[in-house]
Amino acid sequence: GKNNGRGAVVAFDRELLTEERHQRFVERELRAAILMDELELYYQPVRTVDGGLRSVEALLRWRHSVRGMISPAAFVPIAEQSDLIGKLGQWVLRRACADFPLLGVPAVAVNVSAAELRNPDYAAHFAEEIANAGLPGENFIVEITETAPLQKNSAERKNLEFLRALGVRIAVDDFGAGHASLGYLRDLSFDIIKIDRAYVAEITSRPVDSMIVQSICRIAADLGVAVIAEGVETPEQHAVLAELGCTGFQGFLLGRPEPLETILAAEGRAVAAA
Ligand code: C2E
Ligand code: MG
Ligand code: MG
Ligand code: MG
Repeated sequence: GKNNGRGAVVAFDRELLTEERHQRFVERELRAAILMDELELYYQPVRTVDGGLRSVEALLRWRHSVRGMISPAAFVPIAEQSDLIGKLGQWVLRRACADFPLLGVPAVAVNVSAAELRNPDYAAHFAEEIANAGLPGENFIVEITETAPLQKNSAERKNLEFLRALGVRIAVDDFGAGHASLGYLRDLSFDIIKIDRAYVAEITSRPVDSMIVQSICRIAADLGVAVIAEGVETPEQHAVLAELGCTGFQGFLLGRPEPLETILAAEGRAVAAA
């Protein structure tokens, strides 16, 4: 059939194409995916120490007609090479705005690429989008992955300042995994640090990891910034992280990323049981 033929082309081309041509191929498919409604948002809870719901993080999924579910790690970096990342980001924010009233959470976090923040109009478009949905900035968190420290007067920095003026909170994602952690702390006004899950994975057995996390929590407390631990998978990790001063917890232990329909179905059961 048609799908088999297309799958065969994918496998064939991936062997032969140069990286650049492969990139253009994925780009073309991704543009079609936006039009064909193949993108989805999953939501993962971020909880307080006593299990309350602080926020959810929106995580992008691509349900490809031939290749099945594709992780953002496989296509976001390609989208970042062109204007596609802006289109993806717009799609994500619009969907998050539409879903927000149904999610029943204090705030939704969206991931934003540095490439998006280099567009001088990013924050103005963000403001327009949430205003159209009738939602205040306080309902949103923007997660940025640390790269280099932000230059003064750069578009990135101006966008972040504009967003904060709207009441949007800024989270530094994957903290500690990049190269500019302390530089970031010095020159960016932000609200939340998300500790990379690499530090969480072995926190119960590697003293150096727990020392680093403890130091981050102390600095964060002095700066008045919240600390969320990512990738929390076991009760033991949760206990250590809470002891060290983390204020938010995200990971499979606290809840997997789920589509809106699954979240609503679970709530329906809870309401029916009450
Ligand atoms: P991230 O923002 O750091 O998101 C957390 C990732 O960790 C997610 O992977 C999530 O599914 C995964 N995760 C959550 N809890 C656990 C756990 O307990 N154990 C393990 N091993 N993993 C856990 P995902 O959904 O594959 O997303 C990967 C990355 O793709 C994200 O990392 C984010 O940087 C990027 N991304 C996702 N959605 C978007 C988007 O809408 N826009 C942009 N620009 N990037 C996105
Ligand atoms: Mg994130
Ligand atoms: Mg990230
Ligand atoms: Mg992360």
